[in-house]
Amino acid sequence: MTSMETLLIKTEHKFRSLVTRQAYSKGEVICEIPSDNVVNKANRYTVQIGRDEHTDVGKLAALNHSCDPNVILDTKNMLMVACRDIAKGEELSFFYPSTEWEMAAPFICLCGASNCIHVVAGARFLPLSTLENHYLNPHIREMMIELLNNTEKHLTGLSEAKQ
Ligand SMILES: [Zn+2]
Repeated sequence: MTSMETLLIKTEHKFRSLVTRQAYSKGEVICEIPSDNVVNKANRYTVQIGRDEHTDVGKLAALNHSCDPNVILDTKNMLMVACRDIAKGEELSFFYPSTEWEMAAPFICLCGASNCIHVVAGARFLPLSTLENHYLNPHIREMMIELLNNTEKHLTGLSEAKQ
């Protein structure tokens, strides 16, 4: 069963989270990522799926960020997949910079993971060494390589100007 019906939005003190009513094994597909409504600007209900493409994810917008997540959003195949075994009743979370390049509303992460990145603002603000430890979607990888190439060009330009 790969359906969103197993997912439940929980609201506690105005804090939303997404909980599963079913257990999943690592690698199992949980549901498809909705793609009926693709927009060119991010908002709080979207996930980035391409350089200028953001899809309204409906119920999945209740997914919180974690630096030690239990699901990945695979925007190439448009699937949400368990990246470790998940128990029934557990909250689902993913690593926001794995889809978001530059977030409209950055925030401080208090997830408590030993590898916590603290400032969640999008992939462009994280060092490559941190990103490499996470699942990254193709558009993030592409934009990261472009950013590195531009930096290199800029540095080469500076050293050539000096000579
Ligand atoms: Zn964290």
